[in-house]
Amino acid sequence: MKKHNYSAGPSILPQEVFEKASKAVLDFNNSGLSILEISHRSKDFVAVMDEARALALDLLGLTDKGYQALFLQGGASTAFIMAPYNLMKENGKAAYLDSGTWATAAIKEAKLFGDTVIVGSSKDDNYTYVPKGYEIPADADYFHCTSNNTIFGTQMKEFPATNIPVVCDMSSDIFSRELDFSKFDLIYAGAQKNMGPAGTTLVVVKEEILGKNGRTIPSMLDYTKHIKAESMYNTPSVFAVYVSLLTLQWIKEKGGIAAVEKLNNAKAELLYNEIDRNPLFKGAAAVEDRSNMNVTFLLTNPDHTETFDKLWKEAGISGLPGHRSVGGYRASIYNAMPIESVQVLVDVMKALESKV
Ligand SMILES: *Cc1c(COP(=O)(O)O)cnc(C)c1O
Repeated sequence: MKKHNYSAGPSILPQEVFEKASKAVLDFNNSGLSILEISHRSKDFVAVMDEARALALDLLGLTDKGYQALFLQGGASTAFIMAPYNLMKENGKAAYLDSGTWATAAIKEAKLFGDTVIVGSSKDDNYTYVPKGYEIPADADYFHCTSNNTIFGTQMKEFPATNIPVVCDMSSDIFSRELDFSKFDLIYAGAQKNMGPAGTTLVVVKEEILGKNGRTIPSMLDYTKHIKAESMYNTPSVFAVYVSLLTLQWIKEKGGIAAVEKLNNAKAELLYNEIDRNPLFKGAAAVEDRSNMNVTFLLTNPDHTETFDKLWKEAGISGLPGHRSVGGYRASIYNAMPIESVQVLVDVMKALESKV
């Protein structure tokens, strides 16, 4: 039986995507070849890469606005290095918002390159909220933030207005909600949360911010080189890019980000309403900063852990335990999660209430 998969990443993808991807593993485009054995320079795969890059920009509303989309490797963790390498001047300065574990990891890398100013942090309260009311130094080379804090279940609802380039790690909420994406200059997202399998990272960059910091950048870490090579500087993750394309096509068919966002809001509301209503549960994140992608919650009485764990496992739910730094539970309700699966979890929570 197919499980209700709440894993934070790698994570659920649409069932249709799994089916199309399996067909392509056996016979891609009726070519008599598997997607796993074709050249990345073949006509069929170049078409996949071109369509994936164009569709990513299309969905984000960034076509013909001076942006390029790339599908690179090395995960978001390599993007933590590429951002300062490409944007921070020698002896330069960057501003970072410390909103969680991934933000902290990005800050650690930036410090290798220059003065890294932490403009706001919620570390004092174990990242249960998104820092607000901070000021961004006008002389920083860029501002970096994390739109959704996968581990703690918080999400930025507003982004600061600033004249310096804005860099955003959108790994766990890319394509989940409408934003004015033209306010960002560099967006990156590891595919394995809300877009595809592990192995590729989507990068969306405004070309005019590149090539200005005076550093000599190793080729594989140089966004300009990847743009020139049309995201084929070296062998790309052929299969991961293909499956990401299938997911982007699925989003487009659903009616784009706006349509997917509506469903995401309904799913989040269903689950948060139960967390707030049911006296056996409480949310882990500040209410105003709650994520619509990663819902973190705790049992009010830890003695119920065994009973609750047994109930959700019996209901066919998988991947619910929270990250070790938060404890409790984390329901990752990414784009591909059907509302019916969320209802199964809500029913289990109600069942616990009537049982104890
Ligand atoms: C998972 C995650 C990362 C790390 O991604 P990798 O692709 O494993 O390097 C970075 N940022 C956020 C917000 C994440 O959720």
